[in-house]
This record gives sequence, structure tokens and C-alpha cells, in this order.
Amino acid sequence: MHPSARNWGECMAILSGKPVMESMVAELNARANSLKEKGITPCLAVVRVGNDPAAENYELSIRKRADMVGVMLQSVVLDEDISLSRLTETLDALSAKDEIHGILLYLPLPKALRPYEEEVLSHIAPKKDVDGVTAGSAAAIFTGNGAGFAPCTAEAAMKLLAFYGVELEGKHACVVGRSGVIGKPVAILLLAQNATISVCHSRTKDLSSLTKTADVLVVAAGKAGLISGAHVKEGAVVVDVGANRVDGKMVGDVLTDEVSPVASVSPVPGGVGMVTSSVLMEHTIRVAEQSL
Ligand code: NAP
Repeated sequence: MHPSARNWGECMAILSGKPVMESMVAELNARANSLKEKGITPCLAVVRVGNDPAAENYELSIRKRADMVGVMLQSVVLDEDISLSRLTETLDALSAKDEIHGILLYLPLPKALRPYEEEVLSHIAPKKDVDGVTAGSAAAIFTGNGAGFAPCTAEAAMKLLAFYGVELEGKHACVVGRSGVIGKPVAILLLAQNATISVCHSRTKDLSSLTKTADVLVVAAGKAGLISGAHVKEGAVVVDVGANRVDGKMVGDVLTDEVSPVASVSPVPGGVGMVTSSVLMEHTIRVAEQSL
């Protein structure tokens, strides 16, 4: 638990991502500087296929965090109609470069390449898969052997809980959502911390009967307003991973106005999303440290 979070638990709290991000940035900056003194500049390659504005914005937000931390960003922008073989060759070449420590491929790929996504991802060297998207990284989360990275958003949710000193051992942790990038890995990470987990999804019957008994509720459904006050136990901790655009505004999956009087909740925006790119930088720096 971070010292600034020491009083958490005595009252309902807003689990803001900002202090988590700031504390990570300070620590990561020191680690990046120490690497540079040893002649290594941590470097992340961001690969985009096509000129999707959402991808460009995502890269901008990553660049901002990379600059704060001292990670070099190498932007690789490929033609929308690139062939499968050219794309996999590009990933092979980046994987082989010693000066590149992490590789992030922006997903989803353009339509024509989407059926080959798994094959494409397999061309990212497993140890440089800092976004935790390859099959090897998924296996590492399940085995807990430390040989790969969790997807950044899933780990960001865990960082938020750790920062605020939320006790997980023996607690009922309920995850709403079972995607491979968020719901499933979060559930496994919570299990690794000795929580007892329930995983809910669109076919779950009587969602509130499960969420209402949770001490810790992680919501990643992508459905604005899914979780109301009636879904949450008094005194629970709620991590809202949802990021939905409603009437031009970013909102989560949780009705914060209803939930925050009875439970501690992370805001959207300003919660998990603030921590995610710092996790990406942490992974990149870890790969660079392992190369020493
Ligand atoms: P996804 O692949 O669409 O998965 C959504 C999951 O929610 C599915 O497992 C789905 O169940 C479940 N679900 C949908 N409606 C439900 C309902 N009414 N009740 C219970 N479960 C329901 O989405 P994702 O990629 O995991 O992303 C989830 C959310 O996180 C999105 O809002 C996304 O924008 C956000 N996100 C945030 C960050 C961040 O940094 N904060 C990063 C990435 C994504 P089925 O499996 O049965 O379909």
C-alpha cells in the first residue's frame, strides 16, 4: 500500500488513478535513469496498421506517458493494405532488434487482416510482448511462472487495488466481463492474491445476486450504467474498467452517483485508464532491465 493511501478504508473513497500514476511515474523514471547510466535506453515500438484516428490518439497518450517516464517510443506506421507476410516480417525484425525492449501492436487490425490476428501476434517475441496479448503471455498468467506480462488494463486494475491497500485474501471478488484482455486475466490475478472469485458475463442469471455479495467488484462489461446502487454491497470496493462514450462524454459501467455513497469506487475518467499506460512503461522497463 502506498503511504498516501494509508487512511483508506475508514470511509467511502474515490479510488483515483492519478496518485497511482504519479507514484508509478516517479519510480519508473528513476529506473529508466539508472538504465541510461548503464548505456541502455528503454524503447517501446508502437506498430499501427493504417491511419485510424483512435489508434493515433492512443499512441499520443502512450507517448505522453513515455516522455514522463523516460522511455523512448519508436512509432511504426504501416499501410492499411499491407500484406500478411510484410506485417509478420516487420514484427520479426522488431523482435530481433536488441535496442527494442517492448512491442505493442495496435488492435483491432484492419478488416482484411483480422482473421489472421492470432498468427500475426505470434510474431511478437514473447519476452517483448509488453501488452500481454500473445498466447505465451496468457499461459504465463495462468501458471504464474512470471514468464510473460498480463494485459496492461487488467494489471492496472490490480495496481489500483494494491495502491489503496485493498485486502484481497479470503475476500469475495466478483468480475463482470470475461474478455481475454480484461475480465479473464483480472479474475486469475485476483485468484493469485487468494480472493474467492466469481466471473459474470452476458448470460449470467441474476447478476445482482452475485455482485451484491462481492467485497471487491471489478466491472469490465462496456455497458454504461450496468452497475447501480442495487448491485453493490455496502462498504465494497468497486473498480470500474468500463470506458463508454455517451453523448460525447466518457462514462464507466458503474452509476457512480448511486454507488459512491455506499462503496469506494474508481472514477471514469481518471481511474484505471490513468494507470494503464504506466503499466505498459513498467513492462518495457522490466524487459530492458532483464537485458543487462
Ligand atoms: P468486451 O470484449 O466487449 O467484453 C465485455 C464483457 O462483458 C463480455 O465478457 C460480456 O459477456 C460482458 N457483458 C456484456 N454485457 C453484459 C451484461 N449485461 N452483464 C454482464 N456481463 C456483460 O470488452 P473488453 O475489451 O473486455 O472491455 C470492457 C470495457 O473496458 C469496455 O468499456 C472498454 O472500453 C473498457 N476498456 C478500458 C480500458 C482502460 O484502460 N480503462 C482499456 C481497455 C478497455 P459475454 O462474454 O457473454 O459476451
